[in-house]
Order: sequence, then C-alpha cells, then structure tokens
Amino acid sequence: MRLLCSNDDGILAHGLACLERAAGELGEVYVVAPDREQSAMSHSLTLHHPLRPVQLGERRWQVDGTPTDCVMLAIEALLPQRPDFVLSGVNHGPNMGEDVLYSGTVAAAMEGLALGVPAIAVSFAGRDFLSHPDALEPHVEPLARLLRHLTALPAFPAHTLLNVNIPAIPAAEIQGVRLTRLGRRVFSDSVARMKDPWGRPIYWIGGGSVTWSAGEGTDVDAVRSGFISVTPLHLDATHQARLDDADEWWRQP
Ligand code: MN
Repeated sequence: MRLLCSNDDGILAHGLACLERAAGELGEVYVVAPDREQSAMSHSLTLHHPLRPVQLGERRWQVDGTPTDCVMLAIEALLPQRPDFVLSGVNHGPNMGEDVLYSGTVAAAMEGLALGVPAIAVSFAGRDFLSHPDALEPHVEPLARLLRHLTALPAFPAHTLLNVNIPAIPAAEIQGVRLTRLGRRVFSDSVARMKDPWGRPIYWIGGGSVTWSAGEGTDVDAVRSGFISVTPLHLDATHQARLDDADEWWRQP
C-alpha cells in the first residue's frame, strides 16, 4: 500500500512525524507537506506564482504552498504512482464541527478525494502542544491500529473522507471509537482589537472562546466523552433535506 502524508502545520510538525510513523506500519509512505504552517488555509490553491518543491529524501518533499497544493502536486506530479490513500495530519488541535470548513488538514484530505484517492484526516484535540509536545506520542501505536483498520475496511465508502479526532487524554484512557456527525460551535470575541506600534488600530482574528453545541452523536460529544471520533464527510454541499422539503419553502420565480 502506498500512503501520501500531508498536513497543514508544516513539514517540521511533530504531528506529521507521528502520522508518518503510524503510516509506516501500513505501507510505503510518501510525504509532501507545506514548508511552513498553513493552518486555516482551508482549500486554497496557489495560482499566482509557481511552486518549487524541495526534495528532502527519496519519498519526501516540502512545498512552498498550501496543503491543497501539496496533495495536488504529489498526485499529479511528484509521486511515481498514485497513492492508495491520502492521510492528513496529525493536526495540532481539533477539527470538529465548522472547523472542517477552515481546516487545511481536512482540505488536504478533500483534495485527495477530489482527485479520486480515498482520504483520512487526523487531528489531536489537544490545544497546548507547546507545553506538552509529547502528548501525542503514546497515541501513535493506537493510531497505527486505527489506520490499519480504516484502510482495510471491506468497503471504504466512495466519495467520502473520514475525519478523525483523537481526544487529548492519555492513550490508555481512550474509551473506544465512535462514528459521528459534525457538531456545531459558536465563537465569541474571535476578533481582537489592538494597536500597531504607530497607534493605528489593527485586528487579529483568533483567540476568544469557543462554545460547542454538542448534541448526542456529534464529534464534539464523542471526544468529550473520551472516544475517538470518526466523521464521514463528502464534498457535495447540496442541502438534500431542503430539496426534499422544497414544497414547504420554494416558489418558482
Ligand atoms: Mn493545523
């Protein structure tokens, strides 16, 4: 099995090293990852300047682009053959609910899917990687087992990526794995007002607080309860339920 690993935290990220080690137990690993952090880049593509991949090893490249660029370049240009799976992560932080719309980690997996390669995105729901850089370490073995299981599913669903979130608790305390839907979150104070060195107003997006609406069956609820969450996602944003109840709201113009 050939596995393409990418991420949005950059090629030096500890989470990517952990993913590579887990994936290494499953098959031949290729890494094509951004040369710097590209979190919250969503599915952006670099169109206005060329990309210059730097080959760092036989199966390893860094790219001066986004996660989406990396996966597209890998599959269309750099790898000798198409990978069997695209694996993205392990992200330094959760990607649940609306996060998946901003996440570069999920976008890298989406790009694999868009190019016809089944994909799995993996995130670690710990926020404090700087003071606990080893927190992910004990999760590598269990992650390898989970990836082995997911990539060997008798019918890996078509047109689907699996979005995995690992709770930030000791690996021995993980309760199991739950199949989930996306939860919802509400950000408060997510724009910080500040002053630049010249006293002019500037605004910094980020920080603030997050309130999760974690109904039963959601990714947030699973992770809160100590379970690894696996959410199937697809790229089709069509609101099927609104088509189904169109009689109730739609009037032909
Ligand atoms: Mn990230």
